[in-house]
Amino acid sequence: MNMLQQKTASSLRVAIVGDALGVPVESTPRHELSLCSVKNMLGYGRYDQPQGTWSDDSSMMLCTMESLLRGTYDLEDLGKTFCQWIFDAHWTPDGYVFDAGLTTFLALDRIRNAGFSARHSGGKAEEDNGNGSLMRILPAALYFHREKTETFLDRIHEICAITHAHPRSLIGCGIYSLLIRELLTIADKEEALRQATAEAMAYYGRDPLFKSELPHYVRILSLDIPHLSEVDINSSGYIIDTLEASIWCFLKHGNSFDTILSAVNLGLDTDTTGVVAGGLAGLLYGYDTIPPDWLNSLARHDEIESLINRFAQHVAGK
Ligand SMILES: [Mg+2]
Repeated sequence: MNMLQQKTASSLRVAIVGDALGVPVESTPRHELSLCSVKNMLGYGRYDQPQGTWSDDSSMMLCTMESLLRGTYDLEDLGKTFCQWIFDAHWTPDGYVFDAGLTTFLALDRIRNAGFSARHSGGKAEEDNGNGSLMRILPAALYFHREKTETFLDRIHEICAITHAHPRSLIGCGIYSLLIRELLTIADKEEALRQATAEAMAYYGRDPLFKSELPHYVRILSLDIPHLSEVDINSSGYIIDTLEASIWCFLKHGNSFDTILSAVNLGLDTDTTGVVAGGLAGLLYGYDTIPPDWLNSLARHDEIESLINRFAQHVAGK
């Protein structure tokens, strides 16, 4: 297995573990978790699901991998595969969709029940800037990493926009994907962040539609994130909060175990912060620090492993 294959597989694996780690405590405020922090893979809690249950974040990443592996990249097929998840329980842990965001549901309802193309289905309003596209963009960033920046970001934006079409969401997925791409070749994480943010500013600064949204990302783009205290980091379901919190955890910790535990223990949108931080950590640090029983406890473990391995092989061979 070559390095690229290993990095791709580790990134996806740790992201899914981060999801399952966060599911039992989703929505729990930080002050409650600070009294009784998550230290292990738990079961039940918020959604009353057994240990190792992952949520919508992983379902949509698995759908993305499956669609991208079908052959030629096809945005409509990706939209339809997401619909199979939310309406037919495809790629769910046990045949039941227990967690889905409103913006995502409405967009997929437009595709399935109103005949919309996946190019025009996403919510465009200010309130459509939850983290519902950021939580699932990782496989797309890995799959298209060899493309030139223009094409790379076009792909990321159109995949993001299936559900979340507001420019703020496009930028959030763009910054995260650029960082993922840089981390495939740069081992110094601060340097990777500098490169990714410089590329993001150059690209998004050219277009007035994007430029007016850039101030929302000022704490990331100005490289302030690592200097902030935990009290300054929010962890709600807002895309800016998730991206800031994930990068903050990733920069603060030097292994995947501590990164995803710290992401989950920030509270509120624990599973998605776990996924987004987990993708970064798994890519750079691998999954050696993740206890084997955490990985083995994942629902549909063998099927996930098989899909991840096929996807990683494809990404490395492209
Ligand atoms: Mg979730």
